[in-house]
Amino acid sequence: MKKLLFTAFMALGISAFAQDVEPVKRMPIFDIHVHTMKVNPAWSSPMCPWFLSDMPGADPNEEAPFFMNQDCVDPLQPAKSDQDMQDEVIKRIKEFNMTMVAFGDAEVLHNWVNAAPAGRIIPGIGFGSPDDISVEAFRDSLESGFYKVVAEVAPQYKGLSPSDPSLDPYFAVAEELGVPVGIHMGTGGNGMANLTQPKYRASLGNPFELEEMLARHPNMKIWVMHAGYPMAEEMIALMGANAYVYLDISGMIWSYPIDEVQWYIKRLIQAGFGKRIMYGTDFMMWPRLFETSMGVVMNAQFLSEDQKRDIMFNNAVRFFRMNKDDFEWPAE
Ligand SMILES: [Zn+2]
Repeated sequence: MKKLLFTAFMALGISAFAQDVEPVKRMPIFDIHVHTMKVNPAWSSPMCPWFLSDMPGADPNEEAPFFMNQDCVDPLQPAKSDQDMQDEVIKRIKEFNMTMVAFGDAEVLHNWVNAAPAGRIIPGIGFGSPDDISVEAFRDSLESGFYKVVAEVAPQYKGLSPSDPSLDPYFAVAEELGVPVGIHMGTGGNGMANLTQPKYRASLGNPFELEEMLARHPNMKIWVMHAGYPMAEEMIALMGANAYVYLDISGMIWSYPIDEVQWYIKRLIQAGFGKRIMYGTDFMMWPRLFETSMGVVMNAQFLSEDQKRDIMFNNAVRFFRMNKDDFEWPAE
């Protein structure tokens, strides 16, 4: 409806948004992994990027280890309130000419969509297990037209493989409706299995766990979130065997040691998959995480300018079947 209205205004030569649209200064970028979360002061803490560079040598008879090292020059500060978070995100969408796929808390998501320039936030709906949402409600949500993407699907935290038969009806709906699906694979922190998420299994994050499900849904378009880190070999083999599988580099790019992150991306590029790597942050609560994460790609000396543009924008536009002309470009 909005689009129709907009088209009608354009036909009349009147821009509905003229008063608050400033010309963009930067090339568009795509962040395909953004969480919409309510600010929770109990969980909020400053964060030093690449904090997992020195894993503690812990013991079950001692106090549980704390992984988030806060000893760095300039820790990223968490947003102070829901409004602060929204303002900081919208400011960056405009400043960095950013489009994002966002998912999580539905109320926060709706607020952001309403506050952002039209089309800049693409809403996703996710689940971990059938307990989270019925297949009927899932289908209704996608058919409502608000949600354009299925994400984040995270069965690993529930002790399930993405190929578990209980999840199959959901993937069948996504395949039928032609909606792309993002699936959490790989790591999701440290000490999950014995400290925080008792059902979590490292082995269920193996990219090979996707194979049977993909075989049952040959036309489904999926991307592997967090690049299946640290299972580069399995990730490469899976993308080799399945022509439509893409990945995102979110989360791992700002949490694991920077040399390790660069090595991992380089390995995927070297294996020939530069057209299937997509940029994402895994943004949760620290506004400056956007700049930090962008810098990992933009400052990478092992990437050509073309490879950077592919990762930051082109690959996602192709993956989501969008049109480059529909994005805002800086004047020549
Ligand atoms: Zn994830």
